[in-house]
Amino acid sequence: MASPMVGLPVGTPVSPVGSPHNSSIMVIGSLNADLVTYTPRIPAAGETMAANGFRTGMGGKGANQAVACAKMGRRRDALARGTQEKDAVPVYMVGAVGDDVYGQSLTAALTAAGVDVSGVAVRTGQSTGVAVIIVDEAAGGENRIMLSAEANGSLAPDAYTASLPTTLAGHLPRLLLLQLEIPLATVLQILDTAHRQGVDVLLNAAPAQTLPDSYYKCITHLVVNETEASLLSGTALDLAVVDAAQRDKQLSRVAGHFLALGVQHVVITLGAAGVYHATASASGHVAAIKTKVVDTTAAGDTFIGAYALALVQGQTVADAVQWANRAAAVAVGRRGAQESIPWLDEL
Ligand code: ADP
Repeated sequence: MASPMVGLPVGTPVSPVGSPHNSSIMVIGSLNADLVTYTPRIPAAGETMAANGFRTGMGGKGANQAVACAKMGRRRDALARGTQEKDAVPVYMVGAVGDDVYGQSLTAALTAAGVDVSGVAVRTGQSTGVAVIIVDEAAGGENRIMLSAEANGSLAPDAYTASLPTTLAGHLPRLLLLQLEIPLATVLQILDTAHRQGVDVLLNAAPAQTLPDSYYKCITHLVVNETEASLLSGTALDLAVVDAAQRDKQLSRVAGHFLALGVQHVVITLGAAGVYHATASASGHVAAIKTKVVDTTAAGDTFIGAYALALVQGQTVADAVQWANRAAAVAVGRRGAQESIPWLDEL
C-alpha cells in the first residue's frame, strides 16, 4: 500500500523535471560532530575524573558516506590543486546543521572531499548534531556513545523533493543513499517518493529501527551489519560458533526475509568475517581482506560509499561487493572516521 505524500501539497508532481541524472549520488542523512574522550575507565555516577585525551572528529553516517563516495572517486591531489576531475561521480549531501562552529567544520570537510553541500541547510538558533563518545582504553577501546540529533532532527519529509531544484536543477539522482539517523518519517517519505520516481535507493538501516513491511519494496539495496540484520528480521544470528555452510544458511534465512518483502539486493557486512550478499536468484560470501586492524570506525561507511560508487560506475553487484570489501579493509588499517577513508589513488 502506498503511503500518503506527507509534506507535499496535493497535486505536486512527484518527479518535477526530466529524467534521472546519469551518474550522481545523493546522500540524505545526518551530519554530527564526534566529541571523543579517551578514558582509563568509565567514571562512576557523580564522579569527575581526568581523561587521557580528547579529539573532535567529523562524523554522522550521512556525512561519512557522502565523504566515502566522493573520496574514493577522486584523486587526493586533484582537489588540492582545485581541479575537479571531469569523470568523477558527482556527490550531493542533503541534511541540516546548526549555525555553530561544528556545522561549519562539517560542511568544510565535505567540501574538501569533493561533496556538493548546496543541499545542507544551516538552521539559525539550532545546534549541529553531536555524538558524545567515551572510549574506555582499559577495555580495549570499547565505545559508549550518546547521540543527540539536534539539527538532524529538523529534516522534514519533503527534504528530498525540496532539495532537487537547488542540487540537481530538478533532475533525479542515479542513486539515493539513506540511513536512519534522521527522522524515520522523513526516511519513509523519501523511500516512497523515490520508488514512484524509479530512482534506486540504498538504505543503510542503521542504527536499526523497525520499518513498516510495506516500505521494503522501495529499497533497491539494503545494507546492514549482522546486528542490524538480526534485529530487523527478528531472527537470531549466531555466527561465531558455526562453520561456513551453517553461517551461510543462517544468513540466507535472514536475507530471504528481506527479499520476500521486496528488497532487490541484500548486503550483510560481517566485520572481520567479511560480507554476505543475496538477491532472489544468487548469493555469496566474500572473506574479509587480512590486514592489521588499527581502528574499525567508519568501516561500514567506507564499505557503503565504495559499493554505491561502484554501482553508479556500472559495476555488477558482485564486483561492487568485492571492491567495497577491499576499500573497507584499507579504512580499518587507519585511525579515525572520515580521515581513514581512502582516496581513489590510495586504493
Ligand atoms: P559496521 O561498522 O557498520 O558494523 P562491519 O564491522 O560489518 O560494519 O564492517 C564493514 C566492512 O568492513 C566489512 O564487511 C569488511 O569488508 C570490512 N572490515 C571490517 N572489519 C574488518 C577487519 N577486521 N578486517 C578486514 N576488513 C574488515
